[in-house]
Amino acid sequence: MTPHAPTAFGTVHRAVRANVLFLTIDNPPVNAGSHAVRRGLVAALQDAPSGLHGAVLIGSGRSFVAGSDLREFSAPLVYPELPDVIAAIEAAPFPVIAAIHGVALGGGLELALGCDHRIATPEAKLGLPEVSLGMVPGAGGTQRLPRLVGREIALEMVCGSTRISAKRALEIGLVDAVTTDDLLDAALHYLDQGAGKRRAAQLTIPQDDPQVLATLSAKIMKKGCNRPNMAEAIRLVMASNLPDVTATLADERASFQQLRLAEDASALRHLFFAERRAASVDWLSATPRPVTAVGVVGGGTMGQGIARACLAAGLTVILVERDAVSLVRALDSLRHALQARCDRGRIDAATLASQLAALTGTTELADLQDTDLVIEAVFEETSVKQPLLAQLDALLPPEVVIGTNTSYLDIDALVADLPGRSRVLGLHFFSPADVMRLLEVVRAKATNDVTLVTGLALAKTLGKQPVVARVAEGFIGNRIYSAYRRRAELLVLDGTDPQDIDAAVTRFGFAMGPFAVADLSGLDIAWAMRKRQAATRDPRARYVPIPDTLCEAGRLGRKTSAGWYDYPEGAALPSPATQEIIESARHDAGISPVAADPATIQRQLLIAMVNEAGLLLAEGVAQRASDIDVVLTNGYGFPRWIGGPLWWAAQQDACALHQDQTALARAIGPGFTPADITAALRDLARSA
Ligand code: NAD
Repeated sequence: MTPHAPTAFGTVHRAVRANVLFLTIDNPPVNAGSHAVRRGLVAALQDAPSGLHGAVLIGSGRSFVAGSDLREFSAPLVYPELPDVIAAIEAAPFPVIAAIHGVALGGGLELALGCDHRIATPEAKLGLPEVSLGMVPGAGGTQRLPRLVGREIALEMVCGSTRISAKRALEIGLVDAVTTDDLLDAALHYLDQGAGKRRAAQLTIPQDDPQVLATLSAKIMKKGCNRPNMAEAIRLVMASNLPDVTATLADERASFQQLRLAEDASALRHLFFAERRAASVDWLSATPRPVTAVGVVGGGTMGQGIARACLAAGLTVILVERDAVSLVRALDSLRHALQARCDRGRIDAATLASQLAALTGTTELADLQDTDLVIEAVFEETSVKQPLLAQLDALLPPEVVIGTNTSYLDIDALVADLPGRSRVLGLHFFSPADVMRLLEVVRAKATNDVTLVTGLALAKTLGKQPVVARVAEGFIGNRIYSAYRRRAELLVLDGTDPQDIDAAVTRFGFAMGPFAVADLSGLDIAWAMRKRQAATRDPRARYVPIPDTLCEAGRLGRKTSAGWYDYPEGAALPSPATQEIIESARHDAGISPVAADPATIQRQLLIAMVNEAGLLLAEGVAQRASDIDVVLTNGYGFPRWIGGPLWWAAQQDACALHQDQTALARAIGPGFTPADITAALRDLARSA
């Protein structure tokens, strides 16, 4: 049903039919709740004719309201603010129904909560993501939501920034009805059935158990890394049972206003926009090839993870292994993992059945003829990858895109002799590939535009965060991580204990320090790489022999219960054996050890990353400074609330950064290449 005689109030259209006011928000592409939308809503409500029976608030296009317009959040907000719009809705003498399709997120859900009733289409998603953006909901989300669904569910939704389905929203009482009918007709019908005024802010909060809430709050704080906005979100939801709702709403607004301008929210907004930019390549107009069938060659750790990611996205997968035994092992392991997901309730039985049916295996590359894209994840050796890529290029129809998951090998060299090299790109997944969001999409010299955009489209299908990189040893992420790890190892050689470095790094906000990470992933991987690089290493450069000695002593990390740390009963303990190896290396290098303090450790590791980021930008390996922040926060555990290494650097005093860079140059010695950090930071400011 379409209302007649619309009147436009900027981005809000108003129409009256059968004594019902229809307000349609029309702010493409996602109906962000901008100032123009707020002003339009207030004007349309104030201008409403008398004697109305009710009103329906709906969004045009693909969503109700996807959230407030974040671009407004770095400056003072202009009247009317969202609470003013909600006040106008609450003051209206007639009931207002929010008719929700697509998404109602953040300010969009708060707007719906300010209405008297909510109905939704089955595919609608609802949530309050403000906490993931360093803030708290600021227009009643922490006060109205608990009154509808109780404080326990509200805590989970607000603090977890979770999006829930319309079905779940109906179960918990967040929406009043879910309809498969035309949404406007359903809203009208709902009004006709006698829906009256029902302000969520006036409802009595459902009974809850203080002990359950206390336990949940403690769990949330720990998971939320004790960030100040998490504490505020908990405090505000807990206070929603206080009788003076005007006071608690004002309290929430004040907290929101203060947090949205604080460092965490600024950094997280930077990432919000940086992630969207990273997924787009403005200068490309090519159309991606549709991908529904994927071939995965190599069924080891990565191949299986990539297969799981593709299956979860509804793609069909043909897995290729080098022999029948390896194939059976890989398929068994994959099927077992899918079954385990079902047993844990992560997927239902029907999804399990369709994913199992979508998975097949073979030992013949010729069976990949009907795929749209093939990803190789075989051993990281040129002698294995190069002939495989040549075989794929010879066998596959020319339109099939070929991706390589190599971590370090030179893709340009791997494909140099292939007639079809323009359809090859790097698709660098992170482990576990079905869990980690980052995907480096590597544009080799010969990669054509269709291949590149197909890689980016695949990332979107898989729910990954793509970042475009050029070919370089370690691309963006591993190259920066190598510089960071190298600096950490030099700090050890110069006198700081590994456990003190890990402690300083976790205090900064990483989940783990570099030595705990090395033990987890296995010291032999980097060892093999160092051996490969030995011939080309700058002989003047300082070399830290400690990890080699650890490997030679069989200390390969957690898998041998000994690495940088000892693991007598699973937990990491400082190791006397490692200490001995370290002291011997210091002695051999003639070093009088001086331990660095935690602040110096943190700054030296950060400046190592920032310097490498500057080099990557200058070399054109990374397109934009903000892409580097996206890589580090999505793939390497860099704390999101600090925004990434370059956002961190942009917040520092320029002279202090220069001093850090000088100290870094001194510590690394010959072979150090200084980067122009100022240029990197200028690029960050330009793209912001
Ligand atoms: P892996 O050793 O676990 O698996 C490799 C698999 O490839 C094995 O099952 C092997 O049988 C199979 N294989 C080898 N040659 C083959 C051939 N010619 N045809 C078909 N199958 C063949 O290795 P992995 O850790 O999964 O790494 C695979 C690739 O992914 C490497 O290039 C690696 O650098 C890259 N990578 C690994 C990680 C990680 O954390 N493990 C992360 C990112 C990228």
